[in-house]
Amino acid sequence: MVFKSLRGVEDLLPPESEKFEKVVKTFKEAVEKAGFREVILPIFEEAGLFARSVGETTDIVQKEMYVFEDKGGRQVALRPEGTASAVRAYIQHGIYAKEPFTKWFYVGPMFRFERPQAGRRRQFFQAGCEVFGLSQPGADAEVIGVAASILESLSVEFNLEVNSIGCEKCRPRYREALLEFLKLRVEELCPDCKGRLERNPLRVLDCKVETCKEVVSEAPVITDYLCDECRVHFQKVKEYLSLLGVGFKVNPRLVRGLDYYTRTVFEFKSEKLGAQSTVLAGGRYDRLVSQLGGPETPALGFAMGIDRVMLLLPQVEEEREGVFVVTAGEEAYRKGLELIAFLRSKGIKAQIDHRQGSFKSQMKAADRVRAKFVVIIGEEELKGDFLSLKDLDTGKQEKISGLEELLARL
Ligand SMILES: [Zn+2]
Ligand SMILES: [Zn+2]
Repeated sequence: MVFKSLRGVEDLLPPESEKFEKVVKTFKEAVEKAGFREVILPIFEEAGLFARSVGETTDIVQKEMYVFEDKGGRQVALRPEGTASAVRAYIQHGIYAKEPFTKWFYVGPMFRFERPQAGRRRQFFQAGCEVFGLSQPGADAEVIGVAASILESLSVEFNLEVNSIGCEKCRPRYREALLEFLKLRVEELCPDCKGRLERNPLRVLDCKVETCKEVVSEAPVITDYLCDECRVHFQKVKEYLSLLGVGFKVNPRLVRGLDYYTRTVFEFKSEKLGAQSTVLAGGRYDRLVSQLGGPETPALGFAMGIDRVMLLLPQVEEEREGVFVVTAGEEAYRKGLELIAFLRSKGIKAQIDHRQGSFKSQMKAADRVRAKFVVIIGEEELKGDFLSLKDLDTGKQEKISGLEELLARL
């Protein structure tokens, strides 16, 4: 029997794994500059945590979550997103009593049982930021600005859409207006949306089915129903974004597929990604901390899809780097071993061909591992007590008399 990885669960091999690390590194550099600190959270939690936070009626919880019973009879879920765990940890450790505001980031795998396609896997990776304790619109603008700076550092082109989906005061009025409108067009909606209608009509705005999208394009928009506080908040967010030099478009039909959002929501999209066009998304979730048993705490955040960002990175040819030692015979090979140990101790990447094959095959190996230099130790070199150094970029070869000279050349 030959085992394969599960459908939608992929191995990341070099150079993809290196691309992955590059994205993570760039993300960390950008968010650390803005004062975010890392939290490392469990990848599985009590299933109830996600039902309570992401929302009982969402597709994520109803259809996509990996839920199982552990040996202790507990209902456990592989996390489908990161915010719920961050909020749970924030409450569990009483951070609200220790810090007036908190800025966290996380990186790791998430799990959703969806139909796999480009940019959508069952195990996928997210890097996210959460801010707790700040209700001010400046925090929204800053978080969105930080998100933009990550994608800019990665040279990923994007369109930023922002919206406000109001608060618990104003959203019910909109919900009613929307429901009234949708009821008149119910025949045009997909079966899923017909089911959703009474429970959560806002979800229809998120539907990807063409006929639903058409109906939605004529539906009332939430921005016309915002209460004064929400309107002012949104106005400030937009002003501060401009102040920060972040370009955006208001999309009054933007809602996010999770129940916990309030006020500001945003999505960074790329035209190059096709159907799964969202690279990074987030919003404010002022009710979630208290909903999960903590004190009233305003909060907001975003998550970036690392897999999707990787699809957008420009293909670059790997640069040549380090030294490959080519030897002829046992004595030369021994010298070669000493040499790679010495070079590594000096911080230089160094490799040797243990197969000790022909000169030609060793040179081929040096090229395959993209070495920048080849050091040749052959009979002549041994006899004359020198090394030959070849630059694989230029093809130039020269005699080197000792290690000092070698280091100076590399
Ligand atoms: Zn409101
Ligand atoms: Zn639909």
